Amino acid sequence: MKYEVGHFIDGEVTAGESGRWGEIAQPATGEIQARVAFASADEVDRAVASASRAFEEWSNVPVVHRAAIMFRVRELLHQHLDELNTLVVREHGKVWGDARGELGRGFEVVDFACGIPHLLKGEFSEQVGTGIDSWSVRQPLGVVAAITPFNFPAMLPLWTLPIAIACGNTFVLKPSEKDPSCSLRLAELFHEAGVPDGVFNVVNGDRVAVDRLLEHPDLAAISFVGSTPVAEHVYRTGCANNKRVQALGGAKNHAVVMPDADLDQAADALIGAAYGSAGERCMAISAAVAVGDVGDALVERLEARVRALKVGDGMDSDSEMGPLVTRAHLERVEGYIARGVEEGAELVVDGRELRAGGDQAPGFFLGGTLFDRVTPEMSIYRDEIFGPVLPVLRVRNFDEALALVNDHEFGNGAAIFTRDGDVARTFANRVKAGMVGLNIAIPVPLAFHSFGGWKRSLFGSSNIYGLEGVRFFTRVKTMTSRWPSGALTGPNLEFPSSS
Ligand code: NAD
Repeated sequence: MKYEVGHFIDGEVTAGESGRWGEIAQPATGEIQARVAFASADEVDRAVASASRAFEEWSNVPVVHRAAIMFRVRELLHQHLDELNTLVVREHGKVWGDARGELGRGFEVVDFACGIPHLLKGEFSEQVGTGIDSWSVRQPLGVVAAITPFNFPAMLPLWTLPIAIACGNTFVLKPSEKDPSCSLRLAELFHEAGVPDGVFNVVNGDRVAVDRLLEHPDLAAISFVGSTPVAEHVYRTGCANNKRVQALGGAKNHAVVMPDADLDQAADALIGAAYGSAGERCMAISAAVAVGDVGDALVERLEARVRALKVGDGMDSDSEMGPLVTRAHLERVEGYIARGVEEGAELVVDGRELRAGGDQAPGFFLGGTLFDRVTPEMSIYRDEIFGPVLPVLRVRNFDEALALVNDHEFGNGAAIFTRDGDVARTFANRVKAGMVGLNIAIPVPLAFHSFGGWKRSLFGSSNIYGLEGVRFFTRVKTMTSRWPSGALTGPNLEFPSSS
């Protein structure tokens, strides 16, 4: 055991007191490299109490000063980029360049939050009645929390944290127990940048911590990202406890490949999107839909590229794809490959052979896996596998492809590859998904747009980050004012109108 991960409460790192711990594996070696404290309900209460105490003062810090702190956060994050990059690779397992990409996308949200004075500007209407003006402002909610998954240990906390605190809220983060170190380091850096004690707390843990947050009376809102069953639990329980909740869940992102697509470009894009980060992305392409007669040519191109993937330790600059996050997850994904074969899909490339080779055996490595002739009732199509496994389905025409995408329970992202603008436009218009790529396989919106899926990929009415994030973390107050002078008019019992 090389190190121990505690919590960050009231401006300092604290050791775990509950006596409950989780193990953090190093995915590339299979070793247990650390243990992480699992918070008790009391420790969660302490973090919420610290955030409650800090709220009054923090929410009254002038918005331009909060923005200035965000600029300092931005500077510090860039100064510590390599250090954060190492933490992501060491605990998650993804390759160095991929971790760099995730950090960049997280930092963009800090850039966005630096513009908070502009984003919080209210609305003013002069003379809504005679001598009457009206204006609206957005005020922070109070103590808010985020619960994040393992697959983006830096970017996911940064999707909400900068916006929530720039809006004047105080924050409790419960990161994934599989790779929590990045969150703790973020807390230290935000603190060093001038974020006061109690404004940003981190509690590590499992369901005990999450359930306490969900029922805590002093918590105003919860932003959750993770798998669909947990997202649904968080949404229902949080709402039942009168909290504002957004809960982003799992995905099965389809890429429809039309017969007129540039097949080499489409195959390259699909490989990046299906196997990047070993498929552990909520925007991974996890179903390729070959339309018309394009199937053979597409699978031939995909097969060659999957076989050429360089799988290895994320710290090795030659590696294109790292290991899976834990042994349990590796076994789960291998289980899906076995089930795909049992269900009658054609296994074109079997990633399990990489492990059978033995040279990577200690780590949680699995090679890229490709299935052809997958059908809609198979579990490798229905379920989110969250690993380097791409099922290819074949359909006769565009309408069948669209129906397939729209009938799936998830609707996070969807992509189409075609050279026909009319088909692309029709797809964008009719597809039931929250984020759509036209010849783009991973259409993750930038920080000044917002991220969110449809169907069972998102519970709640609010997307994450961008203006939607500002709205989620604030509530509207509208003032109506008059400064009367002149003769009294006497009481009027009619409902006030503007005439
Ligand atoms: P997960 O649902 O297992 O865990 C997410 C968080 O919930 C973690 O902090 C975890 O500790 C906590 N948690 C786990 N089980 C819980 C329970 N029973 N009760 C209360 N809390 C619980 O997800 P994961 O495996 O860490 O991440 C992968 C999943 O996240 C995938 O389904 C992926 O699609 C999804 N994801 C979605 C998005 C999105 O934007 N829609 C983004 C990233 C990941």
